Amino acid sequence: MKPFEPNTFRQHFPLIVNQENLDHLLNTAILTNERLEQTGLVYFDNGATTQKPACVIESYHDFYQAKNANVHRASHGLSAKATAAFEQARETVAHFINANSSKEIIWTKGTTESINLLAATLGKTILQPGDEIFIAVSEHHANIVPWQLIAAQTGAVIKTLPLDANGRIDLNQVEQLLTHKAKIVCCSHVSNVVAKINPISDIIAKAKTVGALTVIDGAQAIAHLPVDVQALDCDFYVFSAHKMYGPTGVGVLYGKQAILEAMPPYQSGGEMIKTVSFTEQTTFNELPFKFEAGTPNIAGVICFAQGIQFIRQYDSAEISAYEQQLTQYCYQALQQIPGVTFIVEQAPDITVIAFTINDHHNHDIASSLDSYGIALRSGHHCAMPLMDYLNISGCLRVSLAPYNTIAEIDYFINVLKKILKQETSVNTTNLEVSATVESDAIVEKFSNIKSWDARHREIMLLGKKLERLDPCYRNQHTLIHGCESLAWVKASTSVTGHYHFQADSDAKIIRGLLVIVLAAFNNKTKQQIQSVDVNSYFESLGLLQHLSPSRGNGALAIVDKIKALSCA
Ligand code: PLP
Repeated sequence: MKPFEPNTFRQHFPLIVNQENLDHLLNTAILTNERLEQTGLVYFDNGATTQKPACVIESYHDFYQAKNANVHRASHGLSAKATAAFEQARETVAHFINANSSKEIIWTKGTTESINLLAATLGKTILQPGDEIFIAVSEHHANIVPWQLIAAQTGAVIKTLPLDANGRIDLNQVEQLLTHKAKIVCCSHVSNVVAKINPISDIIAKAKTVGALTVIDGAQAIAHLPVDVQALDCDFYVFSAHKMYGPTGVGVLYGKQAILEAMPPYQSGGEMIKTVSFTEQTTFNELPFKFEAGTPNIAGVICFAQGIQFIRQYDSAEISAYEQQLTQYCYQALQQIPGVTFIVEQAPDITVIAFTINDHHNHDIASSLDSYGIALRSGHHCAMPLMDYLNISGCLRVSLAPYNTIAEIDYFINVLKKILKQETSVNTTNLEVSATVESDAIVEKFSNIKSWDARHREIMLLGKKLERLDPCYRNQHTLIHGCESLAWVKASTSVTGHYHFQADSDAKIIRGLLVIVLAAFNNKTKQQIQSVDVNSYFESLGLLQHLSPSRGNGALAIVDKIKALSCA
């Protein structure tokens, strides 16, 4: 076993900033974008997906260079080689989570597909009208919506499990709520936002007493906690490769063999078939193939095993201790920043820290951090019911990995303080409101701005120029769909048929984008509006390549709404 040493470990991840450059960055007083171009990225979005070590990347290359063939089907040597590596990967995963047999490991596209498979197949077999499916309020949409769809089809009822004050599923409530009507209990081992380890052993034990099946979403836990499915005694445990150093497009459905055997197939075709006939009944293959229709992600599966082998070289206790050190350090540093509120009480159990900052929209902070090369997540984190439960519209989420460092956290905290200071000074000095900004003036202004951080600042300043929309106009009719922050636009027409649009958003970055978009569309006729070439406008401003997909799509959603309003 290799000793875990963060700086050496970090060297395995090509996309991660190298430490020397970061030190250089920290030693320079000015945090500018030019500096960042020398340093790369501070990646704090590991809960969404981890970066990949070089051995995983190379393994992909190696598969297509040396082993590429379809699995299980051919009688030639190359296929045998690919099949052996593919099935060896299944053994590796079975061993990793201590499954009783590799027959209990089903390859899927990811956690989401694993849960969809379960909802579809269990829905057909065990759910009757009035049966109850229990879901924790903190679940990811992937562990809510498939159950909602199947409940609608079967007449089953969704029931929610509330959280205790620390953000864990409240065991007392579990005790009280679960009765013999409960057929399925679904919860995450660790929520992707709350980041507290749920008492899943107790929940599983309780579910057994009422005869309910248990589905544990291990998407976040798998990279941070040892998972022993036999010790947990859960019926199903699901996770994705990409959140633990593996590739995207590969996931695992672990299920107890007897239950998997009793379940009908999910999708059909390919290796899941034993015999097909037009006169006899079509029959299905044994486990695990019964649930694997079509050609699987062979290269991805093999790479995933490489990722597991990579991480298993290290002492997991040492990695865990380092993760705890990073989390505590970051949590305590954030605690010192005025206005920071953690979404639940007490420090998280894994490396995910979720918080809001008073008077600052989470998207504004995330996009400002992005302009300093710090990648973290903002928004609802695919957990809208949790946001409602906590009574927040969204939050910021730092999620760390063992290749992150204390120096990166220091950089992040320094930048965050700087952004908050800048925002506060702009808030108090620049309250001037001017209604119209011409698109030519914007293009001219942006053509003189070279760096993305300066452009980003300009968008934020433009946002200040947007007159606020009377709250009575912020409604379902004016709401812009497809924009992650709340945003509204309303149209009026003059006697000459020229349109005037007014808009607003709760995020400054979106208000800035609204000013830019309105400048291109205001005071135009319907025909002129329809013929505006928005892509070249954004291109000339150098915007789309920098805006994050949600923000970029938000800009296009604003345009779509404006065009629709002019047609209405
Ligand atoms: N469940 C949880 C707790 C997650 O964090 C995620 C992804 O963030 C998912 C499910 C969905 O995972 P995937 O998109 O890999 O299917």
